[in-house]
Amino acid sequence: MFLLGHVGSAIFVWFIWESYTGKKKDFNKLLFAIGSMLPDILDKSVGLFLFHSARWIGHSILFQLSFCLILLLIDKIIFNSKYKSMLFVLLVGSILHVIGDLPSIKSNIIFWPLFGPFSTRDSTDFLYNLKSPFIIFTEITGFLIAILVGYLEKWKKRYWLIYFGVVISYIVVLIIAYFVFIF
Ligand SMILES: [Zn+2]
Repeated sequence: MFLLGHVGSAIFVWFIWESYTGKKKDFNKLLFAIGSMLPDILDKSVGLFLFHSARWIGHSILFQLSFCLILLLIDKIIFNSKYKSMLFVLLVGSILHVIGDLPSIKSNIIFWPLFGPFSTRDSTDFLYNLKSPFIIFTEITGFLIAILVGYLEKWKKRYWLIYFGVVISYIVVLIIAYFVFIF
């Protein structure tokens, strides 16, 4: 899946969870959405710039858990665990992302470094997936799910502005990247 698919499915899981349990948790949904994009943000920023590969260790569950643990420790020592729940929200979003990617990512990436190294792929390879009907379907569905949940949850104007701002910037970046590297 690409980013809209991930954000949409993470928001959907959160919505179903709240509807099922009947408990409304007051947590930072924006942070949750960022968490649901984090593995791709890491792979396609740090991975691309430092290692010239769009596939890095951002999708490793062990990496995510240990990274979160380090941040929790730092938070505990410096801020007396002030940001504990925020870090937890980020981690849950991030793990939901990996679950969404399970059908398309090999286990040596998901469980890195347990099953040894994995091959990094050409930095722009993932852009070819933009033509995949599955990716197009999950992106549109993810976009619509977020809108539906936002409508049902009566999102504030600020949330809508952030959401559409991010979506439009994301689509523009993808289109530019596609025309520069693939077309
Ligand atoms: Zn991913």
